[in-house]
Amino acid sequence: MSRFIVLLGPPGAGKGTQAKLVSGKLNMPHISSGDIFRENQKNKTELGNLAEGYISRGELVPDDVTIAMIKERLSRPDCVQGALLDGFPRTDAQAEALDEMLNDLDGQVIAVPYIKVAEEILIERLTGRWTCPTCSRVYHEKFNPPQNAGICDYDTTELYQRNDDKAETVTRRIRVYLEQTQPLIDYYQNKGILLEIDGAQGIDMVSADLMSALPQE
Ligand code: ADP
Ligand code: ADP
Repeated sequence: MSRFIVLLGPPGAGKGTQAKLVSGKLNMPHISSGDIFRENQKNKTELGNLAEGYISRGELVPDDVTIAMIKERLSRPDCVQGALLDGFPRTDAQAEALDEMLNDLDGQVIAVPYIKVAEEILIERLTGRWTCPTCSRVYHEKFNPPQNAGICDYDTTELYQRNDDKAETVTRRIRVYLEQTQPLIDYYQNKGILLEIDGAQGIDMVSADLMSALPQE
């Protein structure tokens, strides 16, 4: 049976940051729905063009499109033993579709770390976020600056600020999270696999808590 971990939490909670830190330790590929959409936007694929309007408005891309994209991604060989999902599922329909997909793949969601962060902190985190277009690692101008300003530590690519990280769109994204994604906390709590992690701590403390909360092999 393959094992999947779903990272849950509001935009800016630190899902991408933690996924990059722990996916190697867990030996699981990091699958970020946002990264896949952005890659498609960059390459001007049909999917990218379709997603663009929703992303720039801070809305969710429709479920059918998102579910089909993730289904294709999870069917690739690197996911045969499982994966670390970041940013998917984000709606009840997506969570149910994931369960169905994993049924077919003889897989299971074994844990759902919920990175909990108060709303006030999220805006400052997102408006100060800088992203690497090559490796999708993220930095923060105050909380996690790169060694050289504006340059990725790993591949020296110039960092950029995402369009949807401006204050106005961030507020919209948080509202969308509260309406459409927060109900998943109950969904996974009811399955007994939710792990609450205090995401207000420093990055290394969050990783340590996350690693120790996960079920051992
Ligand atoms: P998400 O993927 O949940 O949207 P990110 O991992 O992209 O969140 O983090 C959002 C921003 O907050 C980034 O600029 C990141 O550097 C910063 N950040 C992440 N975790 C922490 C933390 N524990 N403390 C302070 N800043 C953080
Ligand atoms: P964040 O790092 O702030 O959590 P993401 O990079 O995960 O943001 O997502 C950026 C945007 O991509 C979202 O605002 C949404 O428009 C789209 N998106 C990402 N994942 C999904 C999903 N599972 N369902 C629908 N839309 C999504």
